[in-house]
Amino acid sequence: MKVYKFGGASVKDAEGIRNISQLLLDEAVESLAIVVSAMGKTTNMLEKVVNDYYDRNTPNIDKVKHYHYAILEELFDKSHSIFDEVNNLFVEIEWAIEDTPTSNYAYEYDQIVSVGELLSTKIVSAFLEQEGFANKWIDARDIIRTDNTYRNGRIDWQLTQQQIAKHISKGVFLTQGFIGCTTENFTTTLGREGSDFTAAILGFALNAEEVTIWKDVDGMLNADPRYFDDAKLLNQLSFAEAIELAYFGAKVIHPKTIQPLKEKNISLRVKSFLNPNEEGTVIFEDAEMKPFMPSFIFKENQILISISANDLSFIVEDHLSYIFSLFAKYGLAINMMQNSAVSFSVCLDNDSQKTLPLIFELKEGFKVQYNEQLTLCTIRHYDQAAIDKVVDEKNILVEQKSRQTIQFVY
Ligand code: ASP
Ligand code: MG
Repeated sequence: MKVYKFGGASVKDAEGIRNISQLLLDEAVESLAIVVSAMGKTTNMLEKVVNDYYDRNTPNIDKVKHYHYAILEELFDKSHSIFDEVNNLFVEIEWAIEDTPTSNYAYEYDQIVSVGELLSTKIVSAFLEQEGFANKWIDARDIIRTDNTYRNGRIDWQLTQQQIAKHISKGVFLTQGFIGCTTENFTTTLGREGSDFTAAILGFALNAEEVTIWKDVDGMLNADPRYFDDAKLLNQLSFAEAIELAYFGAKVIHPKTIQPLKEKNISLRVKSFLNPNEEGTVIFEDAEMKPFMPSFIFKENQILISISANDLSFIVEDHLSYIFSLFAKYGLAINMMQNSAVSFSVCLDNDSQKTLPLIFELKEGFKVQYNEQLTLCTIRHYDQAAIDKVVDEKNILVEQKSRQTIQFVY
């Protein structure tokens, strides 16, 4: 059994869907579970619908509708039953936004945003069928079982494994990424970009031979090509290295993806749906990194907050534990931290909805200074040439170094 995951970019238009169909016909894998995300920017569009609904602005789903119908018209004959199926899904959204919103935003969000993946999988499944690639459409809510933490459903591993075993065996199956279901049959989502995680869950439960994430890039590169036009492909790396890169902000794979695969040593391949004959990047336990070279990860829109005690006293443990509790309270993850005798500096994503109240509360007990619009650069396996490439006349505010990793905030 193999697991293939196709992200939003791979199914963003009729041409993309035709490409996937050709790719699957060429690969001709006999036992396969296919995971598909919502098409193109559908999830963002549906988020806007939810927000308008919630803010009591008139939500408008026309844009999402037109986008999907235009693709349908390119792929199918007008008499095809897919038109009705897609209509029915839009009716579900229309019903959902007819009522007054409940006080549970995250719940409402999941009921509406999840439709993006239902739409894409219905369409892709029907098109594959039409092209002669037989497949069985599975409702992910029958197999991916979660608790009721809406927008961040936590997997009930035991139940999920049972359900997967019940619904998926030999043959070709196609299901939605990103969505799951509570024991009371309410739809949940697994967090933005969660489709990779769905693929990993399936890989784990099916003891897959390999999980492949098909992307519009050649695999994992050692830098974002927007920063360096000489970014190079990493042919092979270990789970441990991949987890580090994802943690520091490499966007290619969702960080949650790796753990279940690592546990069963199922290799993860990242490759291009535009060049399917290339090997891409393969990640497995104990893989030696090939080629061994520095990797660069840039995180923009960072804020650096420096906290010191009003009376110049040391930032002692009880101060630190209180400060950490505030980060936890506002759900803020620290990207880098450094302390001196009298101050403590942290670098984090500048989500002002969270950082403003945090700073406000910190100021009640401490002296607080901060800089915004910063970039955090992390270099794994750095050497002097790699450092020079980044530093070059920049105003570095903080530098931190360990044996494998160096970070700069500028
Ligand atoms: N469609 C969801 C998102 O855009 C899940 C995914 O793409 O992985 O976040
Ligand atoms: Mg996506």
